Amino acid sequence: MNDNNIKCMYFNHRFKEKPNDKVGWVQKSLTQADITIENLADALVNGASFKPGVLVGGNKAKNWTQQQLFGLDFDDGIRIEEAYNKVSSLGITPCFMYTTFSHKEEHHKFRMIFCNDTVITDGNIRDRLQATLMGVIGGIDEVCFNRDRLFFGGKGQVVLHPDYEARINAESIIEKYWNKDYEQYISNAKSKSKKKKSTAAFSKSKDKANTDKEYQPYENFNVKAIKEHDVEYLRKVLAHEPIEFENKNEFWDYIYSELDIAELIDIDNPCSFCCVLHDDHNPSANIFTTQNGVQKYRCCSENLTLNIKQLIEMLGNFKSEYKAIQFIMDIYNLSIKESQWSIEQRENIDLMISNITLNKFKELCPQADKNIKNAKDTFLMMLSIARNNVYSEKFSNNDGEIVFFVTHKRLAECLGMNTNQKRIDKVGKYIKMLVYHDLIRILDDSQIPKELLMKAIKYSGTDKRSGNHVNFYAIPSWVIQQLSTIENNGVRWKEKGYRIAGISFDMFYRSEGFDVAASLYPQYKKKKNEDGEIVNRTTTKTSDERTLKISEVILNCIRGKGYCTEKEVVYILGNKYRYVVTETQIKRSLNEIMDSYGLKKVKANKVLKEQYNIDSEGYPNIIIEDVI
Ligand SMILES: [Zn+2]
Repeated sequence: MNDNNIKCMYFNHRFKEKPNDKVGWVQKSLTQADITIENLADALVNGASFKPGVLVGGNKAKNWTQQQLFGLDFDDGIRIEEAYNKVSSLGITPCFMYTTFSHKEEHHKFRMIFCNDTVITDGNIRDRLQATLMGVIGGIDEVCFNRDRLFFGGKGQVVLHPDYEARINAESIIEKYWNKDYEQYISNAKSKSKKKKSTAAFSKSKDKANTDKEYQPYENFNVKAIKEHDVEYLRKVLAHEPIEFENKNEFWDYIYSELDIAELIDIDNPCSFCCVLHDDHNPSANIFTTQNGVQKYRCCSENLTLNIKQLIEMLGNFKSEYKAIQFIMDIYNLSIKESQWSIEQRENIDLMISNITLNKFKELCPQADKNIKNAKDTFLMMLSIARNNVYSEKFSNNDGEIVFFVTHKRLAECLGMNTNQKRIDKVGKYIKMLVYHDLIRILDDSQIPKELLMKAIKYSGTDKRSGNHVNFYAIPSWVIQQLSTIENNGVRWKEKGYRIAGISFDMFYRSEGFDVAASLYPQYKKKKNEDGEIVNRTTTKTSDERTLKISEVILNCIRGKGYCTEKEVVYILGNKYRYVVTETQIKRSLNEIMDSYGLKKVKANKVLKEQYNIDSEGYPNIIIEDVI
C-alpha cells in the first residue's frame, strides 16, 4: 500500500566504522528486502548496508534481476550542497543523501540515492540509466556503476535532503541526457567482468548495448512498459484524448470495442506476429474482432484468447483486477464520473482509518478501543477492502453504506498470516468481536444487492471449506450517535466478561439471548421450510420460546457428554423445568435447532457408542455436533 516500498538487497547490521575487513560477511548477509525508502535512509545513516540491484541466486552482477533505486558515490571533493544544487538544476531529484564512513568536513564523501518511478527489469535500461546519471552529474566514482554494487552506510545519523516521494523517470533522463561518451562506463564494467563467463541474459544485453551507437528503444517498448507498469511512457505514445464516462457500463463498452490492441502492443501486422506473452520465434499470435465487435488477442501455440484487459493483466502480471483497470484508465486517460456518494464513502473510511491509526478512536470510545486492541489490524484491513469497493463497484445497502464481501481465509491472507485453520478461525472471532461493537455489520443475503451476490458466488466458487464462506459486511459511519453505540457495546462486552477464545453463537446466546446472537450469526436466522427452501425465521412467540428451551437442553447435554437423545429432552424439560412438550413438538423444532447450532442426528453405531460411552441396547438415534 505504501508506494515508498522498494525492493533491494539489505543487511541491517549497524556498523560503527567502515567494515573493510568484513566485506565477505556483508556480501553473504545481504538479503532481498521490501523496505520503505524512509526506513532505508534511516538505516543507512546509522551504518546498515545495501545493494540497489536485486540479485537472485548469488551476489554477482550476473544475478541481477531488477532495480528501482540508483546510487551515486561522490568522493572527488565536490561538496554536498554543490552536488545537490547541480542535480536539482538538472531536474533530477534524489530521494535522499547520506555521508559515508570516511566523510570529513574538509573532504566531503557522500552518496545520492534516486528512485525510478517503475521497477526496471531490463538490464540494458538499468545500465543506460546508471551511466547517464554518472555522466551528466559528473565527479562520481566509477565503481558505483556495477549492477552488483554494494553500498555501505555511514555514521552521519542524519538523512540529508530527504524527499522520499521524489522519483526519476529512466526513459526521460536517458532521452534527455544520454551521450555516447557514457558508453565507456558500460564497456568498462563489461571488460572487467568479461573473464567471468556471465549468463546469457547478462552478456546479451551488454552486447546489444555496445552495438547500438545511439540510444535505441527496446524491441517492443510498449510491451516492456506494460510489464513495468510504466504509465507515463504509455500515456505518451498512446496519446489518447481524455474521456470521462458516465458509468462503468459505458466505460467497459468503450474498452472492449474501441481500444486497439495492435496499437497498444505496437504490432504492425495484427494478422500474424510473434506472441508477446511467451518466447516466440515463429509468429503464432494474431488479433481479431469477434462478431460482437470485441477485439481479442490470440496466441495459437498457447491456445489463449484474451480481451484487452486480460492481456494487460497477463503482461503486467497484475495481481488485482482493480489495479489493472486503474492502469488502463491511466494509460488511456480515461475516467469515470465519481458520484458524491462514493467520494463521501471514501472520505468516511479514510477518516476512520486515521482515527484508528492516530489513536483518536481511543479518546472517542475508550472501552471499545481497549476491547478490540488485537482486532485492529483485522478492522483496518476490512476498512481498506471496503474502501476499494467504493470505487470498483457502486454497491450499497439501503442505508447507503458500502457493502462488500470477503472470506475469513482471504482476510487472513491479506493480513499476511499463515492461512492455517487456527489463524483463519481467529480472524473469524475478531470479526464477530467487531460486529458485536457495531464497528462493522454483517449482513444476511436479503440485505445484499443481487449483482454483488452473484459476484460473491463466482468468487467463492465451490470451495465450501470452513473459512471459505463468503460473508457480506457494511461499515456504519461514525456519526456521534454511532460512536456512543460502539462505546456502549464496548462497556457491555466488558460487563459480560466476554473473551475472544469463547466467541461462539452459544456464548452470546446464553448471555444475551437469541436476537443478539442471531445478529452476529445471521445465517442462523434462516431455516428450511416444509419444501426444503431456505426462508427467514418467522416463528410464533410460543414456538420460539419452546424451541429455545429445547435447544438449551440439547446444548447442555452435548456440552456435558457429547450427545443427546430426544427422549432425554422430554424427560429433562418435564422434570427439571416442569415444561411439558410432546415428542412431535420436539421433532418440529429439532431441524431448526440442528441447523442453527450445527448439529446432526445420527444412528449410534458401534464406534459412536464407544466414543460417547453409550451402554444402551441397540442403536439409538443421537444428536451430536456436526463436525465438518
Ligand atoms: Zn503466446
